[in-house]
Amino acid sequence: MLGLMQDYPLLTHTILDHAALNHGEREMVTRGVEGPVRRTSLADIRTRSLKVAKALELEGVKLGDRIGTMAWNTERHVETWFGIMGNGAIYHTLNPRLFAEQLGYIVNHAEDKIIFVDLTFVPILEALRDKFPTVRKYVVLTDAEHMPDTALPNAVAYEDWIGAVDDDFEWKSFDENTAAGLCYTSGTTGNPKGVLYSHRSNVLHGLMVNQPDVFGLKSEDVIMAVVPMFHANAWALTFAVPAAGAKMVMPGAGMDGASIYELLDSEKVNSTAAVPTVWLGLMQYLEETGKKLPYLEKVVVGGAACPPMMIRKFELDYGVEVIHGWGMTEMSPLGTTGKMKNATSHLDQEARLKLKEKQGRTPYLVEMKVVDDAGDELPRDGQSSGHLLVKGPCISKGYFRLDEKTLTDDGWFDTGDIANIDPLGYMQITDRDKDVIKSGGEWISSIDIENTAVGCEGVAEAAVIGLPHPKWTERPLLIVVRNPGSEVDAETVLAYLDGKIAKWWMPNDVVFVDEIPHTATGKIQKMDLREQFRDFEFSN
Ligand code: AMP
Repeated sequence: MLGLMQDYPLLTHTILDHAALNHGEREMVTRGVEGPVRRTSLADIRTRSLKVAKALELEGVKLGDRIGTMAWNTERHVETWFGIMGNGAIYHTLNPRLFAEQLGYIVNHAEDKIIFVDLTFVPILEALRDKFPTVRKYVVLTDAEHMPDTALPNAVAYEDWIGAVDDDFEWKSFDENTAAGLCYTSGTTGNPKGVLYSHRSNVLHGLMVNQPDVFGLKSEDVIMAVVPMFHANAWALTFAVPAAGAKMVMPGAGMDGASIYELLDSEKVNSTAAVPTVWLGLMQYLEETGKKLPYLEKVVVGGAACPPMMIRKFELDYGVEVIHGWGMTEMSPLGTTGKMKNATSHLDQEARLKLKEKQGRTPYLVEMKVVDDAGDELPRDGQSSGHLLVKGPCISKGYFRLDEKTLTDDGWFDTGDIANIDPLGYMQITDRDKDVIKSGGEWISSIDIENTAVGCEGVAEAAVIGLPHPKWTERPLLIVVRNPGSEVDAETVLAYLDGKIAKWWMPNDVVFVDEIPHTATGKIQKMDLREQFRDFEFSN
């Protein structure tokens, strides 16, 4: 027997309708790519999204068409997403940090029809324009005054383009499982793979993120979405913030410490989210200027392991709660957050800070487990490390136009991460499965060593890779980038690690380099490092 509840498809435009009706006056503040800060409201965002949908309709865009966006976090980018989805088309975020060949591949693989592009990225697309046969128009996210003289074919300024239509448009209606967004992962090998979000998964994920033990947003909040919309769905903020009716602050192209600080301060931001490198920039700025963070209450740090030193600085020096988060593009992207819970209330400050180093526990709508190589589930004892598998309504079950089995027979997705889960449900990532270091039959966590090493004065960045060793199979090599002006040496770094990590984890050698290679999403390219140090010989 079916229940007698209304058929109300979970379509993303319902979030915007709700926001405009109930929180229409709430501001969205953007540092414009052109320079000045712009202010708009949730009601205006809805009106302008309707215009985007109507203008797309006039361009002949149809249900299921892919529309590219290569843009910073701005109100215009938000409008394009809602306009595209409200017309039944699919936003396809283009990460400007991808290599040219990868960009060429994904635009053609997705067959994008139109691309919305920020001023900053026009040159990237100009260089590739001849390789994009499916793209028939470029909408530059600016006004007539700032419109560049561009070689992009059929280029038009966004404000002119939506200025030519009114907002008399009815959102399209369709099944809630209809595709809404497309984001390609930039793996370290092979071509990028397209993760295809649906309206339902975007809505559910937005609601999931608003649970109190996740981001817990409410209408009084002022949240700065630093995590880019072009990487992993901006951690759902584009949906979660309007759903809550909170004020949204968008940094545009200003991702440096000073620019981020200026908006945090002037807009009285109380919550924010980004990867650790952004926060390193902010911390450096705070240290140089002696400024504090009087309004900021919580910061979500994810996308890469949050170094313990960052947790301590935020919590102890600036009084800001750190919420360590983990997830991946395939998970919409959020998987876990490390909020404290009732069972941790007895912990003293030191133990709480230590627990925050773990990637955290799952909210409702994510299931996870760790399994051994044979696929058998490992105990939640905080020790047994294995392959981390996940399940849920916002987790992908396949890649766009790729005929490849991506789930286990019983429906779990292998994240490629190696982790353990403790009895309270807190998960800790120890490595990527491709990067584990096997020494004497045991696994050494490269992430743990890296995280500890960056706490040593003079160390800007650290990477640990496993290299062959005649006795132990593999041993860790620590690769360090020094802070400018620092002369920190191997002995000092090893002495710093001593006592902070297990004795048998101690790197056999430390080498110093000018730069560590990264992927387009800021991850360390360990494959490249292993190649670079292939012939390295340990001194012991
Ligand atoms: P992406 O799909 O680009 O967001 O990358 C997802 C991967 O980033 C995960 O599978 C992890 O390996 C890594 N990652 C994300 N968040 C964290 C975190 N908090 N700690 C350690 N690794 C993380």
